[in-house]
Formats: sequence, structure tokens, C-alpha cells
Amino acid sequence: MAEICLRGVRKVFGGVSVIKGVDLTIADGAFCVFVGPSGCGKSTLLRLIAGLEDINDGSLSIGGADMTRVDPSDRGVAMVFQSYALYPHMTVRDNIGFGLKMTGHPASLIEERTRNAARMLRLDPLLDRKPAQLSGGQRQRVAIGRAIVREPEVFLFDEPLSNLDAALRVQMRTELLALHQDLKATMIYVTHDQVEAMTMADTIVVLSAGCVEQIGAPLDLYHRPRNLFVAGFIGSPT
Ligand code: ADP
Ligand code: MG
Repeated sequence: MAEICLRGVRKVFGGVSVIKGVDLTIADGAFCVFVGPSGCGKSTLLRLIAGLEDINDGSLSIGGADMTRVDPSDRGVAMVFQSYALYPHMTVRDNIGFGLKMTGHPASLIEERTRNAARMLRLDPLLDRKPAQLSGGQRQRVAIGRAIVREPEVFLFDEPLSNLDAALRVQMRTELLALHQDLKATMIYVTHDQVEAMTMADTIVVLSAGCVEQIGAPLDLYHRPRNLFVAGFIGSPT
């Protein structure tokens, strides 16, 4: 069970309140999309859940366990970034297994998990290549592979497809949803793209200026937006 629960979460940067008391419950196994305009705090909220930033006020629990002050590596959470920072001198195989190697896992386990992830992501024939020999979509898959081998309960994606061209973006959306089905993990996916939110999410969280405007299923938000901001952002008829 990896329900994610935020209570009164606040984050201040240099005296400016960026996350303003967020209450949010994300169900175990959800594919939850955070959507909202640039600068509204989507990435910050994700980084607070991952533990890459400290929460100033409030609390966070994952799977019922308090994670508010827990180290990022002990949260059972893996984050996939938009700039897929792969190690250029390492093969795909070594890039995928690197995190496990650093945490002292045995070579046989690393090899097995790397092979499984590669199969899932259709990277099997590319395991001996270096990142420079890969397409953008393949590189993004390697970045996802790095997260998969850690077997997290929660995956956090921060605009993972925004560097890809439109056709590849559509294909990767389908692949990510298939992966969600296979892994049965809780996934949070950040985007500023309303279409992506409407087509991928089972739950959408609409954010504006550090606050949750509304949370619900895509069609709920579309047909019953709480206010004009949500209506405008989701594209509801008004
Ligand atoms: P989004 O991902 O929705 O575009 P962010 O979470 O990146 O928004 O940023 C929300 C606000 O917090 C912005 O005004 C941004 O400038 C500010 N911010 C984010 N990170 C920092 C930081 N490390 N230091 C100071 N301000 C920050
Ligand atoms: Mg962002």
C-alpha cells in the first residue's frame, strides 16, 4: 500500500511562500497528474514528496508511514526527470544498474533487475550502447529504467516527455500507462499540458499559485469544475 498523504504542507523560498498549505490524498496505485501553469509549484511539490527539499510545515506520509523527515533514499520513491542526465561514458546496462551498484547490491541481482527493466522498456538490444548512440526516446527509457530497478512503490515524473517530439510523446504516454499497469505502483506525473493530463490521469490535481484548486477524475473536473480557473485550465465548456 503506497497511499500518499500530505497535510498542511508549506514551503517557503527566501521569504516567499511557494506551497501554501496543501492537503492531498493520492490513492495507492493511482496514476495522478499534477497540472497547472508554469511556476505554480508542481516541481516543488514533487521534490517535497521525494525529499529533495525539506517541508517547512505540515506532514507527509507514504503507505501510512510518516516520511516528513525521512531521507530521500529511504522513502521508496524514485524520481524521473525531464533532463535525463545519463552518464555519457557508461553503457545503457551500467546506467540502469548504477544506483543499485552504489547501494551495494550484488552483481547477480543488478544483472537480473537490469534485464527485466530492459525487457519492459524494449531496451534489450541496446544494453551495450552509450547514451550518445541512442535516440531521445531511448534515452528517456533508460532514465525510466534506472527508476524501475530500484523497485520503488512510488514513481515521480517531472515533465518527462517535454524534450521529445510530438509523435514520440504520444507513443511514450501509452508506454508509461502500460508500465503503470505492469508495475502497479503509485505514479505522480507532472505536466503543464492539459491534453496529457486529461488522457493519462485517473486522478488530476489542478494547482494554482501553490494551492490545490481541485482534485478529481478527469471527467469530474471537466463537467464539474469548482471555479473558472479550473474550467479554463481543463477546457470545460462555460
Ligand atoms: P512549476 O514546476 O509549477 O513550474 P516550481 O515548483 O518550479 O513551479 O516553482 C514554483 C515557484 O517557486 C516559482 O516561483 C519558482 O521561481 C520558485 N522556486 C522553485 N524552486 C526554488 C528555489 N530553489 N529557490 C527559490 N525559488 C524557487
Ligand atoms: Mg516544473
